[in-house]
Amino acid sequence: MPSQEHWATARGYVDGGPVTDPRTMIAVLDPAAPSVRVGEGAESTPDDVDRSAAAAARAFLGWATLTPAERARGMTAGADAIAAEADRLADLLVREVGKPVHEARGDINGGIHLLRTFADLAGDLGGMRDLTGHPGTGQADGVWLQHVPVGPAVVISPWNTPVYLCLNAVAPALVAGCAVVVKPPEEAPLALTRALHLLAAALPAGVLNVVPGRGATVGERLVAHPEIRAVSLTGGIATGRSVLKAAAGTVKKTHLELGGNDPAILLEDVDLGVDTLRELVAGCFAVSGQVCFNIKRIYVHHSRLREFLDRFTSLVDQLVLGPGHLPGVHLGPLTTEAGFRNAQRLLDRAREAGHHVHQGGRWAGGVEPAEGRFIRPGVVTGMDPGDELVVEEQFAPLIPVLPFTDESEAIAEANRTEYGLCSSVWSADPGRALALARRIQAGNTFINAHRVGASVPLVPFGGVKQSGLGRNHLHYAVAAYSEEHAVIRYSDPGHQIPGIEPWSGLGGPEANS
Ligand code: NAD
Repeated sequence: MPSQEHWATARGYVDGGPVTDPRTMIAVLDPAAPSVRVGEGAESTPDDVDRSAAAAARAFLGWATLTPAERARGMTAGADAIAAEADRLADLLVREVGKPVHEARGDINGGIHLLRTFADLAGDLGGMRDLTGHPGTGQADGVWLQHVPVGPAVVISPWNTPVYLCLNAVAPALVAGCAVVVKPPEEAPLALTRALHLLAAALPAGVLNVVPGRGATVGERLVAHPEIRAVSLTGGIATGRSVLKAAAGTVKKTHLELGGNDPAILLEDVDLGVDTLRELVAGCFAVSGQVCFNIKRIYVHHSRLREFLDRFTSLVDQLVLGPGHLPGVHLGPLTTEAGFRNAQRLLDRAREAGHHVHQGGRWAGGVEPAEGRFIRPGVVTGMDPGDELVVEEQFAPLIPVLPFTDESEAIAEANRTEYGLCSSVWSADPGRALALARRIQAGNTFINAHRVGASVPLVPFGGVKQSGLGRNHLHYAVAAYSEEHAVIRYSDPGHQIPGIEPWSGLGGPEANS
């Protein structure tokens, strides 16, 4: 039995208070020891969903009329409340997601940082821009533009970095003036739901609501709900397609942060020193390969392939696997049973096809755990460019490495995909790397880096092609939850609009008498 210390329950939070009535509960298992339940999350009912949407619609009317600075005060208070519980929340994350403690802390602290960052942005938001007299305002004698919140918004988030990725959408939505309903991931709802209860308690009733449960039930009902005006999903591409279809019924503003199959291109002049290799290892294996913009394919100039593989695999051999709470662990287990089975299938297929699989890593404490969804980090070579491990997102610590002979071939292979999240070019020649980076189809391309933290807030983050719609980071993210409302004044109703014929043949009202 799990100790009480680590047991947790994820309940809904609707219209200013927790949902305490009994609900069907979904077990949350420890990925490092799946026979152990670490907690349970509620499966919210259709009525919970409808009440949460109605509460958000009501609360929106007041929240939207506050100034961004007033909204920021509640967000900051919520960030403080989460920070006061950060250690316990990180511990919960280790147990439900399986990630090492340092990654769990990064998830919580990163989420708190997002709330504070978007609260700080409040000073730049709100108000009305007076554009009167500017070029492009025609014959109008008054033109104003304001950004208004789009309305009640739904945020649906994934299990791999649950707190950070959820607050990445919730924080800009709140500061923009939207009321929000969150659907946490059913596989790992515990730490996120607790953090959201703390945040919601710092805000007016109904401004933030939480309805845990499954995507196909709770998620779909929320997305289709007529009172919801905006949807933000962070998840897989197949889910993105379902959400787009469900949102189409009521023409909702839709923001999708979806999967990636990021290429890293290593040119023949790449520096293969230990710093570069560490960056590449972190880029491939952070969160056991379960990050949307992990490196998922490596293309190496054929003249450096042997040297690269020798040096890279020797670092991979040093990676430590084990339950995330043990000291020194780099790779925890895969979080979900489905992800674990898929990784095993990919390994079996690679071996059956005669590809070379180098699996490295060593067990924390020198002992292989009796159970757990562990996959030792693997480097796979000898594949064809069209093999599944190359063209599909593996979301596991298995990295395919392929040689190329010239830059055009490398670019063609990097772009030969429906994904387009991030990518990287590695070279000792900055100008050459920049020229190549410009030819890759992706939302972000890094040079001599490619891992969590490599993107910078000033520029937008998001995917091209099927990796997503819309962008994150600062004002780009706020725009996902805002509409532009223009007010245009004509003092002279009889004025002539250039290029538009006036209606002719209409006399004055007296013409009919
Ligand atoms: P997923 O798509 O299975 O689930 C994501 C969320 O969507 C969960 O909360 C789930 O319950 C919900 N959901 C599922 N079906 C739904 C439906 N029909 N309607 C409404 N909601 C539904 O993804 P996952 O397995 O949790 O996460 C892994 C995927 O997410 C990977 O592809 C990864 O690359 C991607 N991801 C992308 C980013 C990014 O920023 N681009 C970040 C993290 C993860």
